[in-house]
Amino acid sequence: MSDQPVAIVTGGASGIGLGIATALMGEDYDVFVLDNDLHHVDDYNASHPLSRARFCDVSDALAVATEIDGVLHVVGRIDLLVNNAGISGPTAPVEAVDPSEWQKTLDVGLTGAFNVTRSVAPIMKAQSSGAIINIASNAGLMGCPNRSPYVAAKWGLIGLTKTWAMELGSFNIRVNALCPASVRGSRIDGVIERDALARGITPEAVREVYQRQSSLRTFTRAEDISAMVCYLAGPGGQRISGQSIGIDGHTETLTNWLGS
Ligand code: NAD
Repeated sequence: MSDQPVAIVTGGASGIGLGIATALMGEDYDVFVLDNDLHHVDDYNASHPLSRARFCDVSDALAVATEIDGVLHVVGRIDLLVNNAGISGPTAPVEAVDPSEWQKTLDVGLTGAFNVTRSVAPIMKAQSSGAIINIASNAGLMGCPNRSPYVAAKWGLIGLTKTWAMELGSFNIRVNALCPASVRGSRIDGVIERDALARGITPEAVREVYQRQSSLRTFTRAEDISAMVCYLAGPGGQRISGQSIGIDGHTETLTNWLGS
């Protein structure tokens, strides 16, 4: 049994998840990453001595169960699960969303979190301790036009956060969701470009509107999210459960488009 606390971070081989994994290692966690990008998994393992990243598609329940069993076999406990893996899905009006894209977005962002949580919950219950953090979005708290599958996945994740907090609370397991706004990085650049294309305007104009949606008129930084993960997992977070916490400079709206 490991004498370090153990964390699982899904989608942790790049992007926000990599930032979370790195911050948790800084807090002395033994971090295991489940990610379905082989290239990023290889890169992660090449730069982390214990090769703790595993290739795993979180939408595949059997693969997830096998990987979680493997982690338990190696370290004997799981203290923290961060359900971070998610895809942005299509940017399109509802009638133009392909059903396969709808399904894929939900399979990764919603079913993926269910798959990992259902494998980890019995382990945390047996320990009578644990914390689960779901990386949702401000799009899980309000409507966001042209993002139907993503919004559905994130609202679903917030509903599961409440439900799992209730189911698992008496086992001393806390469950919370984090709701970032747009985070600087390659993923949001892609969302902005697709939105600009759909609206026939420039990416700069889209970026400007996204920033105006927040009271602080700014994007979230990846480090804002990892700092909150560490806080919730640490001593300050011990009485916090069932919450969906905005890390978004206070999103006022996701719809302040002139003329739309
Ligand atoms: P990203 O696309 O940069 O990284 C996602 C990571 O998840 C990648 O390493 C990818 O390989 C992995 N992944 C994708 N599908 C997977 C699967 N089926 N199984 C396992 N791993 C998988 O995304 P990001 O910007 O780092 O976003 C991380 C989380 O934060 C997502 O849930 C996203 O919805 C949420 N979020 C992001 C933003 C943003 O602006 N980037 C804003 C709010 C919320």
